[in-house]
Amino acid sequence: MTELLANHIAGRWQVGSGPGSRLMDPVLGTELVRVDASGLDLHAAFAFARDTGGQALRAMSYAQRAQLLADIAAVLQAHRDAYYEISTANSGTVKNDTAVDVDGGIYTLSQYAKWGATLGNVKHLSDGAAVALAKEAAFQSLHIQVPTRGVALFINAFNFPGWGLWEKAAPALLSGVPIIIKPATATAWLTQRMVRDVIDAGVLPPGALSIICGSAAGLMDQLQPMDVLSFTGSADTAATIRSHHAITRHSVRCNIEADSVNSALLLPGHAASSEAVTLLAREVAREMTIKSGQKCTAIRRILVPQNLYDEVAQAIAAQLAKVTVGNPHNDAVRMGSLVSRAQYDSVQQGLNQLLTHTTALYDGRAKALVDADPGIAACAQPVLLGTQDPDGSALVHEMEVFGPVATLIPYRDLEHALALAHRGQGSLVCSIYGDDSDALAAAASDLAASHGRVHVVTPDVAKLHTGHGNVMPQSLHGGPGRAGGGAELGGLRALDFYHRKSAMQAAPCVLQALGATTGV
Ligand code: NAP
Repeated sequence: MTELLANHIAGRWQVGSGPGSRLMDPVLGTELVRVDASGLDLHAAFAFARDTGGQALRAMSYAQRAQLLADIAAVLQAHRDAYYEISTANSGTVKNDTAVDVDGGIYTLSQYAKWGATLGNVKHLSDGAAVALAKEAAFQSLHIQVPTRGVALFINAFNFPGWGLWEKAAPALLSGVPIIIKPATATAWLTQRMVRDVIDAGVLPPGALSIICGSAAGLMDQLQPMDVLSFTGSADTAATIRSHHAITRHSVRCNIEADSVNSALLLPGHAASSEAVTLLAREVAREMTIKSGQKCTAIRRILVPQNLYDEVAQAIAAQLAKVTVGNPHNDAVRMGSLVSRAQYDSVQQGLNQLLTHTTALYDGRAKALVDADPGIAACAQPVLLGTQDPDGSALVHEMEVFGPVATLIPYRDLEHALALAHRGQGSLVCSIYGDDSDALAAAASDLAASHGRVHVVTPDVAKLHTGHGNVMPQSLHGGPGRAGGGAELGGLRALDFYHRKSAMQAAPCVLQALGATTGV
């Protein structure tokens, strides 16, 4: 029997009472560890986090909590090699893909540590200046934000076991709100190991960080009105979560990051030999293959002028043909595996569904895997699809295949292109390629209505831009509609979710004692 990983709740490590779910190596098909949450006293876990953890965190200032984030980042940095090993074994990722998750998490914590330090030794935040409510400003209104007096429950997806925790934890802890993380079962090992290292290092007060690995059963039932819930995962699970009585009856604040059919758009007016086409092709191939396409922000639809359809298809295919797929331990491999055999089956099923409306313009499936058994390994080769019916093929605008699959879509003119991009019904990100600043700005402004982020690639930022799918803590992560309607990151904006806003109405002397800057 493999090791049964412990949960950390109510200030101590506790194993579940059941046999546990098996976490696998998706390349070799071998069992690695097990997780189990049965028999845990969830009520005590939430109460301890809320009361003991919450009080300790709220007793600190923003600057002190920012230091906690810096301390966590230092602990994670010291154990980085172990995280790379776990990620390769349990997620099947090559080093570059592991870096997005592990180093991305550490970078995000470090950024929030820096930003938090600028907030100083205060216990609440002012929101704007005081405004007059009576003659001569003798009575005024000031909005302040205070940390919510509850716990933040994170229910996360399998594709980012490292970054997925820390991108939520950094703003929560900085705000003074304790965390209970429930990672996706398939890849919970990395999250559990990171939490274990942070707990063992003793950098956080008891109750500030808890982890429950295994089934989500019963977690939502523990939520109380001042708690918050941040969920990342599929639209189907999101719908179940939204209908839970904690949300419908107790108004538990809920942030949802769900799936998304993101697009990349080449503006009209470029020659096939232009740099814009080269940049688009390179970025599409990169996005399709980073983490084997298991990124919520990955490009799923590529919108190009119809006269360039063939040339762009060839340019992307040429990039994809260079990608070697197989065992991430082999240095010759550029793309590892999907997270599990179940995901592999789901990707093949989705691909076959899309193929009923499209044709394959590049199909890597005939290529051999490097150092991996195709009967066991969850390795999926990249496939570029294409449609000649951009308006009629509804499925290509609606279906997210969570793997190395994207569809090339021709458009007539810019108006048509923008309408097609909006058919994602709300996406996390759209990237635009071109060299005319005015045209790019107009398209970006139009796309902002249904995209949480618009990423513009011009030749002058070819080597500098941060990547279509890369989520930077400086920028908003989330999208309307289909994408879940969530809002994470975006610098200190992320703190809003973990604070309660209240309007203070009082004489100027009281508001000054509360930290008001100017009275008008
Ligand atoms: P999922 O099946 O919805 O699972 C997400 C999480 O919800 C897991 O921790 C899962 O636990 C838990 N869960 C399952 N059923 C639940 C229930 N009834 N109540 C409460 N929690 C429940 O999603 P996934 O397959 O892990 O992730 C892939 C999807 O996530 C993709 O569609 C992707 O687009 C999306 N995603 C979005 C973002 C974003 O930021 N927008 C980021 C990453 C991924 P178990 O693992 O134990 O079942």
